[in-house]
Amino acid sequence: MEPVKYTYEELLQQNEELRIQLEEANDTIDAIRTGQIDALIVNGVDGHQLYTLKTADQTYRVFIEKMNEGAVTLNREGTILYSNSRFAAMMNLPLEKVIGLNFTSFIPEISVEKFNDLMQKGWVEDCKGEILLADKQGKLTPCLLSCTTLDLDEGIALSLILTDLTSQKETEWELKIKNEQLLAAQNAAEKLNNELEDTVKARTNDLLISREHFKLLANNIPQMTWTNLPAGEVDFYNQQWYNYTGTRYGETVGWGWQHVVHPDDLPNTLDKYIEALKTGHIFEVENRYKRWDNTYRWHLNRAVPLRDDKGAIIFWVGTATDIEDQKREMDRKDEFIGIASHELRTPLTSLKGYLQLITSYKREEIPPVVKQYIEKASVAINKLQRLINDLLDVSKIQAGRLEYALDKISLSDLMVQVTENSKHIYPLYEFDSQLQPGIRVMGNAERLEQVLMNFINNAVKYSLADKRIILKTIVKDNLVRVSVTDFGIGLSAEQIGRIFERFYRVEDKRHITGGLGMGLYISDEIINNHHGKIGVESELGKGATFYFELPLIV
Ligand code: ADP
Repeated sequence: MEPVKYTYEELLQQNEELRIQLEEANDTIDAIRTGQIDALIVNGVDGHQLYTLKTADQTYRVFIEKMNEGAVTLNREGTILYSNSRFAAMMNLPLEKVIGLNFTSFIPEISVEKFNDLMQKGWVEDCKGEILLADKQGKLTPCLLSCTTLDLDEGIALSLILTDLTSQKETEWELKIKNEQLLAAQNAAEKLNNELEDTVKARTNDLLISREHFKLLANNIPQMTWTNLPAGEVDFYNQQWYNYTGTRYGETVGWGWQHVVHPDDLPNTLDKYIEALKTGHIFEVENRYKRWDNTYRWHLNRAVPLRDDKGAIIFWVGTATDIEDQKREMDRKDEFIGIASHELRTPLTSLKGYLQLITSYKREEIPPVVKQYIEKASVAINKLQRLINDLLDVSKIQAGRLEYALDKISLSDLMVQVTENSKHIYPLYEFDSQLQPGIRVMGNAERLEQVLMNFINNAVKYSLADKRIILKTIVKDNLVRVSVTDFGIGLSAEQIGRIFERFYRVEDKRHITGGLGMGLYISDEIINNHHGKIGVESELGKGATFYFELPLIV
């Protein structure tokens, strides 16, 4: 083919056109370099096309470049006309490779539908939506996509701002997990709570049943009952209490019960009550409670503490039993004993007198056998007299009339005399006296002798095998302790707790001996009147030491 021949003018013309084109291209490149315009060349179906974006505002350009979100501009076909470097970085591509690509190449299958919706809307109005973007390696990035249309020289373009939601999603994910954990914990707590509620319900029910049980029981026994707190306040009385006292609910709670106790019995009741609260020992006292009709009746009060598994007192349960009738019976019995022993004393005294007359009968010799009878009768009469005297003493104690004078006496002298008497009465026993001289006390010699002789008589009665008896005085800290020790049958701890009670006798069929259980009761009363202390130390089968302690005269 022949080469086209141009004239010189034609070539000049062409040269001029090319120069102008070059100048234009240089201007464009210059403008791009200086940031006056954004421009790009896109390789489209119609060959290369240049797009430019005028940016009047340099600040805005810098801002777009620096911002943390991806920013792209698309044409109608979805071709990326502009991308900031952040978007390129998000898609792991160099910036120059991003521009000119179709944006859909970053949309994974899963987000296509959503993206298309957004695109459709985006060209009409501003809109937003979450989608996933995929880079060339297929790595997915969750993004918030915001669309806005832009009016460019080349026509309308779509600006997309892409906010990477990865860290937000991670936080959301973590939050979700935390939420799920929280929910699980909440469920567990709720379950536990429900179980607890069930348990509480069951316990409350149990409690209700046991409380009803207690109430039913408390209101249907003849005794008056109460419960009181560890500090002493009464917080419950049964119906009998209100029926008897005629008080209204609330009047006697706390310490209000004091108003219905007989004023004469109140100090002793309070002493014993406070002592029990302090020590936790059983509370027991007899006192008179005022009835609704203003009469008083004797009651036996007993209260026991209820403790928790650590031993601390939770509350006390008390009962007051009406013993007025028994008391009256006892009084009548005491009165009878008093009168009877008094009545018995007169004929006994004359009997004794006649025996003495017979002994001193001188007219003719009394046959030895009769003498023997007389001696035996004297022993029996003495024993009878002791018994009658004891009975009289008991009834006097009951009536509060066991009266005698206290003088300064020599206890040492008394002890010597008692030892001598005992040796004389019980010649078969071996008396070991360990006595100190010069001991003086305030006392009644006759009554103290009565106590000592009671100790000695018992020592003899309850130690038939081993016949040693020790009489001893010990002086210590302004006190004298007088003791009588035997090596006989001894006493158990339980028996020790009761032997000073009236008419108490140890019931042991193996050792039936005479006695009415009055001696120690009288002795206790006598020693108490002397402001002393009476007691016993003993072990079953190993003998006993009965003692009393009195203050010394200094
Ligand atoms: P009794 O007249 O029955 O001896 P007491 O009041 O003197 O009455 O004694 C009360 C009880 O104490 C007695 O029945 C006996 O069981 C017990 N007792 C007293 N002394 C002794 C002792 N030395 N050894 C063992 N038991 C004793």
